[in-house]
Amino acid sequence: MLLPSQVKICEVAPRDGFQAEAEWIPTEQKVHIIRQLATTGIQSLEITSFVHPKAIPQLKDAAEVVEQSQDLTDIKFRALVPNVKGAERAINVGIKKLKLMLSATDSHSLSNANSKVVEAQNHHATTIEFAQKNNVQVGGSISVAFGCPYEGRVPIDRLMSIVDRYNKFGVYEVSLADTTGMADPIQVYETLGALKTMFPTTTFSMHFHNTRGMALANVYAALQQGIVHFDSSIAGLGGCPYAPGASGNVASEDLVHMLHQMGIGTGINLDQMIAVAKDTKEILGHDGGSYMLQAGPCSALHLKPKGQEKVEK
Ligand code: ZN
Repeated sequence: MLLPSQVKICEVAPRDGFQAEAEWIPTEQKVHIIRQLATTGIQSLEITSFVHPKAIPQLKDAAEVVEQSQDLTDIKFRALVPNVKGAERAINVGIKKLKLMLSATDSHSLSNANSKVVEAQNHHATTIEFAQKNNVQVGGSISVAFGCPYEGRVPIDRLMSIVDRYNKFGVYEVSLADTTGMADPIQVYETLGALKTMFPTTTFSMHFHNTRGMALANVYAALQQGIVHFDSSIAGLGGCPYAPGASGNVASEDLVHMLHQMGIGTGINLDQMIAVAKDTKEILGHDGGSYMLQAGPCSALHLKPKGQEKVEK
């Protein structure tokens, strides 16, 4: 089986993970976790979201978090922005890459952005233009790309029309998010096959939540389609608003572990990442589902049971 030999992981806990935390995380703790993550070898990080502070109070310190992390120049930061106002705030503090928010379905878009998908995407034009004027890169995203909690499975045609419009706006990087963990591996494989054929110049990245335990299987399906960009979250942080207490994003340490087991490089130090996951769990008082925190890596062998040495002789 021909799989990519190297993949690029974007750590999203400081945005996706933190925004799901009900209790306020002080700015210095957020920055501490980001600095810890920087020691693992990660090359890109979704550092925050410049949404209205009333919409997500947990991220109201977005600008401070970015300012206090600015010396971490080995890492490429990106920030999620809902509109031109958010883009302006992000660019003002030196963010060089923006990710746009968009839902795959009208029901999810209406509940999240208060407008239908087409209208929401039209609004992106202003944001994209503003970013381009400021020499800032823009990537698109599609939430609930595989399944919507209101509408169920999302037809491929719908994704195609959204990607097509992104392309028309000059956006050739699109993140497909399984926001509530409804995707299955066959669906991922087939969807990516169709999208890659239709949009050969678009770079797709995958953002899987592990709400129903299918995230790593979905990663494998995406690898089989040659995908090399994946999001993940330390300690599996990141919730599902429709299922309180459910698992979050695929845990970074679980993803790195699986990839390394299969001989796929990430540039990340797994032991260090597990240590950071432990630390993060301690700081926040919980994790979002992490096999590495429960069982440790395959390489951590146990002492043989007593008497077994004899049997083996
Ligand atoms: Zn997410």
